[in-house]
Amino acid sequence: MAGTLSFEQLKSQVAEGGVDTVLVCLVDMQGRLMGKRFHAANFVEHSHAETHCCNYLLATDLEMATPDGYASTSWQAGYGDYVMRPDLSTIRPMPWLEGTAMVLCDILDHHTHAPVPHDPRAVLKRQIARLEAMGLTAMMATELEFFLFEKSYDAIRASGFRDLAPISGYNEDYHILQTTKEEGIMRPLRNHLHAAGVPVENTKGEAETGQEELNIRYAPALDCADHHSIAKHAVKEIAWQQGHAASFLPKWAADKVGSSSHVHQSLWQGDTPAFHDADDALGMSQLMKHYMAGLIAYAPDYTFFLAPYVNSYKRFAKGTFAPTKTVWSVDNRTAGFRLCGDGTKGVRVECRIGGSDINPYLAQAAMLAAGIKGIEDKLELAPPTKGDVYEDAAAADIPQTLRAATETLRSSAMLRAAMGDDVVDHYTRCAEWEQEEFDRAVTDWEIARGFERA
Ligand code: ADP
Repeated sequence: MAGTLSFEQLKSQVAEGGVDTVLVCLVDMQGRLMGKRFHAANFVEHSHAETHCCNYLLATDLEMATPDGYASTSWQAGYGDYVMRPDLSTIRPMPWLEGTAMVLCDILDHHTHAPVPHDPRAVLKRQIARLEAMGLTAMMATELEFFLFEKSYDAIRASGFRDLAPISGYNEDYHILQTTKEEGIMRPLRNHLHAAGVPVENTKGEAETGQEELNIRYAPALDCADHHSIAKHAVKEIAWQQGHAASFLPKWAADKVGSSSHVHQSLWQGDTPAFHDADDALGMSQLMKHYMAGLIAYAPDYTFFLAPYVNSYKRFAKGTFAPTKTVWSVDNRTAGFRLCGDGTKGVRVECRIGGSDINPYLAQAAMLAAGIKGIEDKLELAPPTKGDVYEDAAAADIPQTLRAATETLRSSAMLRAAMGDDVVDHYTRCAEWEQEEFDRAVTDWEIARGFERA
């Protein structure tokens, strides 16, 4: 059976010589795998208990900068260490890398060994624990959309990110012929992930040249986020191995559709789907209605966690399948929230707001917090919207810019109560820094527009 490895299984594979390297990884604020490559012998003998990393890893950006303004660490505080404690239930092979296994870590304070509250895995675990206290579990699925490019990352970087030819010449939505041409990347991706215990459902061509979608079977929220991070990492590594590049930038060209990460959500009571009520016209339980009302009411509060960069907001455009409105609908792809599987035990809500750049731990945690609040306050769900929601003037908008989403995050009493002030302040600073860095940049657009004519 393909899947994760027990520690004992890893030990025997190391003893037999099948595994010589263990990647010991945390998931950073940007959702990336960061960590160290251990010699497998050292890992099984010593480092499986814990290792260390510099604490700036959870206070940095995509460029590995050292921004000021974080309470958790700074130059003044000396950028000390965190403990990385391997979660031994996440050991798995990485079959696309020779002789390599991996493990995900929880991040602990160096001195007290208490969980670091803004560690993305800790942020999600906190909301999962709140649900558990209510006798509920969350089953989630995050879809991964991305673009494949003809050239490699290095060749594209050397071209100043100009040489961006997608791997296909036409819109490949559901296209079997075109996606056959991409099987050099996509087939190993499906098979290697399956062997790594990531329950791949399918891949398909998406609605743009070179655009792909990877679907993974729904799982308990923490597993779902782990699957997402590992799958995203695998997409990049396998594309690189084949001399190509894969990008999860939500919008890499103004005239092309962006990439999203839709999140399917349902709550369960043991094996019983708590969102299902056979007597309801759409099969939705009262619990589901309250949860969805919370998701909708608090969408502006958590938009940052679905759209964490300046670029994320370029995706929200009319007529592109990327939603701009905080309303729900029945199987209608123009609304922010879509009811799927209505009338069946698989009834669930799909949030369509998130971009391909989400951190899946933070996005799920924020949505669970909103849903829990809806349940606690018994929020009333408005009737579904119909038709083209883009043209519905009465429907509320999500924040339109990172600047706006930073303020709705900062002032969210709901998220402060659910996640803690320290966590909300930490990610507010993260959002501010991203905007500050952008504001310092001189863009190609400004130069082309003003160089001669200004
Ligand atoms: P779509 O028409 O959106 O592609 P799919 O049937 O392919 O719908 O399902 C999309 C995702 O929803 C899949 O990843 C699937 O595993 C997930 N999913 C199915 N049932 C549930 C559920 N009850 N809760 C959460 N996710 C689910």
